[in-house]
Amino acid sequence: MLELLRRQGIRDERVLRAMARVPRHCFVPEALQPLAYADQALELSSCATISQPYMVARMTEAASLSPADRVLEVGTGSGYQAALLAELAQQVFTVELDPDLAVAAAATLRQLGYAHRVQLLAGDGNRGWPEFAPFQAILVTAAAPTFPRTLFEQLAEGGRLIFPEAAAGQSCSHRLYKVERQHGQPRTSLLGYCRFVPLRSA
Ligand code: SAH
Repeated sequence: MLELLRRQGIRDERVLRAMARVPRHCFVPEALQPLAYADQALELSSCATISQPYMVARMTEAASLSPADRVLEVGTGSGYQAALLAELAQQVFTVELDPDLAVAAAATLRQLGYAHRVQLLAGDGNRGWPEFAPFQAILVTAAAPTFPRTLFEQLAEGGRLIFPEAAAGQSCSHRLYKVERQHGQPRTSLLGYCRFVPLRSA
């Protein structure tokens, strides 16, 4: 998997080392475990997929994490991305709308020893997690219909918001954006194209 990620352009050695440490098979349904290290997204439920390793690595690399950072993830799903973030940052706050997925992810994260770095909330991630803001990085792992202004407001100065946007009429390809907060203002760059499940409203 690491060789493939390198060939696809992932350069950050800290991200690659972290990918090597997190056991992806522990986060996928048992029937799909033989595919855990293939570069493909795997279905967790009708509304959730664990993203392909390349996309997880790409988003994590774009977040440019430092060990002291506090990170918010919207869309916990299996907890895999949260575990990876916990390898690279101080504290991870992750929000999942589906209560069953939230319970399962919390159990997996606890079993693998990530509980001390990851706090999980079952609820609507569109609201962010204001009690713990500001965050140095925010990753949205479901496609937002528009620019997530509320999440941007919870970014620290110099922070990075990584999110896929499903603009109207764009059902098969989403744009992946990085928005940096500079002097309180958003500075947006397009990272590429991707495909995510929709970010739902509660
Ligand atoms: N990052 C996950 C994959 C996420 S799939 C992983 O590593 O496994 C997208 C997830 O976003 C799904 O679990 C879905 O239930 C969740 N989701 C959708 N809308 C949401 C919302 N408004 N708030 C929080 N989670 C949401």
